[in-house]
Amino acid sequence: MVTGGGTEPAKKMTEKEQICRDHLIALRWPKGVRCIYCAADVYRSGRERNGAPRWQCKTCLRRFGIATGTALQDARLSYEMWARAIELLLTDGSTTLLAFERFIGLSHRAACAMWLTIRGAIAAAPQRKIALESVLKILLAHPRAALSGNTEKL
Ligand SMILES: [Zn+2]
Repeated sequence: MVTGGGTEPAKKMTEKEQICRDHLIALRWPKGVRCIYCAADVYRSGRERNGAPRWQCKTCLRRFGIATGTALQDARLSYEMWARAIELLLTDGSTTLLAFERFIGLSHRAACAMWLTIRGAIAAAPQRKIALESVLKILLAHPRAALSGNTEKL
């Protein structure tokens, strides 16, 4: 890890985002990326709007990204932002939607959707002491609508 002055914030963001992407890829595909539709071999095929990699299946030819079909699917948001948002809600369960909105710096609508989704994932986690990793795994395993509904129990 490089520390000290002279590092541009933008570059730092990119490095952190890269770490988050690699982490998510390892969480979703521990044995290497496979097609999310047919589990066949894939090859790298361009990038998403947020710069994250996309793949194309060698067999069914469908394309997908790190979070396609999951609650994290939203190419406008960086994965680093998701990780920071999850950590905030894990650290302080009483964080209000307004405080969350300010922290994330998104529109009310986008922040609200993210807040509901993350709280849903936290509620769905089986353990009492929940780590960032377990929340990310839940987010990767569910479509957003499935998690947002869980918050009614909170
Ligand atoms: Zn396929």
